Amino acid sequence: MRHLLDILDLTTEEIDELVLTAQDMMAHPEKYEDSCRHKTLATLFFEPSTRTRLSFESAMISLGGSVIGFSDPGSCSSVKGESLADTVEVVSGYVDIIAMRHPKEGAPYVAISRSLVPLINAGDGGHYHPTQTLADLLTIRKEKGRFENLTVGFCGDLKYGRTVHSLIHAMSRYKGTKYVLVSPKELALPDFVRKEYIDEKNIPCEETESLEEAVGKVDILYMTRIQKERFASEEEYLRHAGVYVLDEEKMKLAREDMIVMHPLPRVDEIAVGVDADRRACYFEQTRCGKYMRMALILKLLKEKEQSDVSRKKGVPVTGNYSCGNPHCVCGTERGLSSSFYRDERGVVRCYWCDGEAGK
Ligand code: ASP
Repeated sequence: MRHLLDILDLTTEEIDELVLTAQDMMAHPEKYEDSCRHKTLATLFFEPSTRTRLSFESAMISLGGSVIGFSDPGSCSSVKGESLADTVEVVSGYVDIIAMRHPKEGAPYVAISRSLVPLINAGDGGHYHPTQTLADLLTIRKEKGRFENLTVGFCGDLKYGRTVHSLIHAMSRYKGTKYVLVSPKELALPDFVRKEYIDEKNIPCEETESLEEAVGKVDILYMTRIQKERFASEEEYLRHAGVYVLDEEKMKLAREDMIVMHPLPRVDEIAVGVDADRRACYFEQTRCGKYMRMALILKLLKEKEQSDVSRKKGVPVTGNYSCGNPHCVCGTERGLSSSFYRDERGVVRCYWCDGEAGK
């Protein structure tokens, strides 16, 4: 059975196919209005969300299907102490497909060990968010007409910004990609993305702390919010809050055909005055999200009967290792055994969250 936990679960050909289907769905929604009749989607949101959850629900309804689920972990059995694995096994007996968001990194890997139906990762902590990437890719294809030879600037919280991690996974596969990374040093891109998906692939990458310096160099400027909920304290968050603001003055430094993207919600990192600029694409990006999720749901339901896709990561290793990531699902999920693998560079990582393991 096919799941989507990371954007790399899809080949570039499959992404092209999803983009084409989504564009057809946008142009001819009536052709698809019965495609998922009698099918049910469960949205299991253990972490708050507006856009992602509603776009999944709207996608399923537009395919003629139904939706059940929860948007607040306080209303599910995890407050009674039920493990994630148990919740998923129970729910998967009631529905045809699941979209799950969880604050712990690696939680979807636990979920698919027990799910009886395809499961889509709708965001796991600061790890990955592959369906946002599908929305981003459709936006890029519509606005730039290609995925190759693009310089992509990422600005803001690159450490906890899961949408950034997933989009880098996706864009690093295309010819001629270049990156410009704009963040304070403390919020730089984590090693599990930087080393394997940029350095190892010899992708040209510039790093700066100055948005002014970066804005004129890029084809796409991907702004992000400082991820308040991932910081250990309010004080730590406040040290970085408001650090980057894209405003009309900075837009004057940008290329005429540059586009601005943002996974939303926006706090203050893009001034409202920029919304009227024709290069601002972030609201279009949310519309693209719905159609890509429709295309994905349809694809996974059609492929439901196929055998499971292997979840192998690197070479499994045993030994006295431990995961030091306080956000990893291994710290909270009952009965979950520690598991580690050696990546291509020989670094031992936690199987669940991909963080570097300690001894
Ligand atoms: N909506 C995106 C996410 O769920 C971005 C964000 O929350 O800042 O990761």
